[in-house]
Amino acid sequence: MGAGPVPVPKEVLLAQLKVINHLGESMNAVVDEIKLMGQYLFQTKSETIFGIAGPASAGMEMAVSNLLWPGRKVLVLNLGTFSHRFAEMSLGVGAEVKEISPRELSSFHVFEIKKELEENKFDVLTIVHGETSCGMKNIHLEEITKLAHSYGVLTIVDGVTTISTMPFLMDEWKIDVTFTAGQKGLSAIPGVSLIAFSERAFEVIQKRNNPMPHWCLDARRAYKFWVNHEYHYTAPVTGLLSMHEALRLICQESLDKRFKRHQNHSELLQKSLDIMGFELYAPKEYRLNSVLAVKNFPEVSVRDLLKIMRNEHHVEISGAFGLDIFRIGQMGEQCRPYNVRRVLEALGLSMRTLGKNVDQKSALEFFDSAICPVNTERFVS
Ligand SMILES: *Cc1c(COP(=O)(O)O)cnc(C)c1O
Repeated sequence: MGAGPVPVPKEVLLAQLKVINHLGESMNAVVDEIKLMGQYLFQTKSETIFGIAGPASAGMEMAVSNLLWPGRKVLVLNLGTFSHRFAEMSLGVGAEVKEISPRELSSFHVFEIKKELEENKFDVLTIVHGETSCGMKNIHLEEITKLAHSYGVLTIVDGVTTISTMPFLMDEWKIDVTFTAGQKGLSAIPGVSLIAFSERAFEVIQKRNNPMPHWCLDARRAYKFWVNHEYHYTAPVTGLLSMHEALRLICQESLDKRFKRHQNHSELLQKSLDIMGFELYAPKEYRLNSVLAVKNFPEVSVRDLLKIMRNEHHVEISGAFGLDIFRIGQMGEQCRPYNVRRVLEALGLSMRTLGKNVDQKSALEFFDSAICPVNTERFVS
């Protein structure tokens, strides 16, 4: 129940039990359907949707290394660890980087970005929709990507924790590149990611003359496999089969219902944590529903808390990079009543073991009354 990898449905696990030919007819059909379901997932008509044998960071790296090279300039909007990764990767491919952060604990505002775009000529802007490291959300994403588009700046959006957990409209919001990974919002297995390029972005890639720094992440080469069904590198067939199944389940549930399920469970968890006596890190306005950052109690070590929860109650949540918070995931299968309840139970009991009195009883009473009738949905660990 941490910030990923997240539990997956049984069907997703079972889908990867067989290794098939990566260039056979079955795989071709799987690839075509992943792209089709990917269009629904990203809300795009893009024909250039590619799977990647790699983590979300490989998706990030594919976006960066195809659109940036020496002489190109990127504006990196830094809200935390993952946002900053864009800057590291951009430097790695020799681009000129300008990185900005909000002055206080808030998401980026349109006027700040407008000022930057007026002052400098950027080729690319990078932004993370939901910053997992601190549970913050860029609530003005749509305005920012539309603004960048009007300035002729290509936008790369990290949608790892938000895609399939809350509304995300690639085409309508004028996003040029976006990606997500199996182990977060999609509730699929880690190691396989999905990326989509707009026509505008793919044109830039096709016209570039600079050598491509990454052979495996070269979008023109990926096109061969993902559009022409020709060899690029051996595709992670089992990973793609389980990704296909995860996408099928998303389509079956429908994005609308899935968004509502995420919002409902996250709000119940937030309210229950509040009743228990916890404070959330991100101000409500900017709070990311899919990964909740919770302020730690004074004199409690997050490490000890996590250890007790794991060893005595068999519930895993995440710590954080540097901040005195812990994080509870609310992505995909994490948003099931049984799972949320177990976190609340384990958290309350563990805090007591640490000598802190939290009002677990009222929190669970509230949760149970809100979730009634008792839900017995499946949980596969
Ligand atoms: C987890 C995460 C990443 C990195 O994912 P890896 O699969 O570990 O590379 C990037 N961006 C966001 C928003 C994430 O939550």
